[in-house]
Amino acid sequence: MKIKLCLLYGGKSAEHEVSLQTAKAVTQALNTEKFAIFPIYITKEGKWIKGKELIESIKDVKELTFKEDGEEIVPHALNASLALNEEKSSNYDVIFPLLHGPNGEDGTVQGMLELLNIPYVGNGVLSSSAAMDKVIMKNLFAQEGLDQVKYTWFIRSTWEAAPERAYEKVESELGYPCFVKPANLGSSVGISKCDNRADLENAFSEAFKYDRKIIIEEGVTAREIEVGVLGNDYPECSVAGEIVPKKGFYDYQSKYVDGNTELVIPADISAEEYTELRSMAVRAFRSLDCSGLVRADFFITNDGRTIINEVNTMPGFTPFSMFPLVWKHTGVDYPELIERMIHLAVERHQEKQ
Ligand code: ADP
Ligand code: MG
Ligand code: MG
Repeated sequence: MKIKLCLLYGGKSAEHEVSLQTAKAVTQALNTEKFAIFPIYITKEGKWIKGKELIESIKDVKELTFKEDGEEIVPHALNASLALNEEKSSNYDVIFPLLHGPNGEDGTVQGMLELLNIPYVGNGVLSSSAAMDKVIMKNLFAQEGLDQVKYTWFIRSTWEAAPERAYEKVESELGYPCFVKPANLGSSVGISKCDNRADLENAFSEAFKYDRKIIIEEGVTAREIEVGVLGNDYPECSVAGEIVPKKGFYDYQSKYVDGNTELVIPADISAEEYTELRSMAVRAFRSLDCSGLVRADFFITNDGRTIINEVNTMPGFTPFSMFPLVWKHTGVDYPELIERMIHLAVERHQEKQ
């Protein structure tokens, strides 16, 4: 019997297009002898469209959007929809939410899937939402004793009531340079680096456009190193990968805006540094009670500190993204990685029952 796998992709998020690319790559990598693949496409407007079982691999991303033959469903009918409409299937064995950012990676979809009582790939409700809020994530890392940059945070109403006080707090506690970020986002959206008071004022206004809560961090000059973590109660780590801006100077803008970066895998770090990263990655994973996978992102500062920046609970997952690439270098290729993630989803579900 084939495993009935539902792929949730697209999504009401800035990373919609990335999700399409990922869905295409995942459908091509899955063995159709083993898996019956049922795609559900979430439009940018948030409509859920159910496609028929995929019998061939996808060649064109547009094929994945089911403009012609898709049938609209409401999310809470997800489980029943197959049973009602297709005699041959009862329901899904496992769901793979290939979604990034708010409304996908933040515990909302995960909560719905919990209610449906179907195994799903990746992190649960608590770890997804805790990792999406950078303040909560850093508070939990602090409690675990992980080294990180100094930070402070505000909600919009506190800032509006006394903006001067907010700026003075940042200047006295963190100084410049500092980074201002919306608390609940990814992909560097709404993030600014500040070197002075004028920058800080602009950065607050910018970040508050995206979220009612923002975080401000001490800026560091550092290498950016990332480690893949895979597992449930006994997580394993991949080799480390480094993000190197091609222009040769440290600029976070170039990484995302111009796409001017190179991934160096394995990262050129010492054995001691790698041991430290692995230990910190597992502690970070456990401190948020993660399951399935995370990509743990670190800074190694010019003065030799290894500090954790964040974990991403559904990191970029195209075959050219850091997470699959660090696993490939560790000996786990893309199809095997996907199968292991599916297996971990089923394992976690069974342990909960
Ligand atoms: P996102 O979740 O959007 O990826 P990050 O916190 O990872 O947000 O920030 C995006 C990028 O901004 C980082 O990869 C890094 O290049 C830069 N950056 C973020 N915080 C700092 C910091 N405190 N010091 C130096 N650079 C930072
Ligand atoms: Mg992130
Ligand atoms: Mg990041």
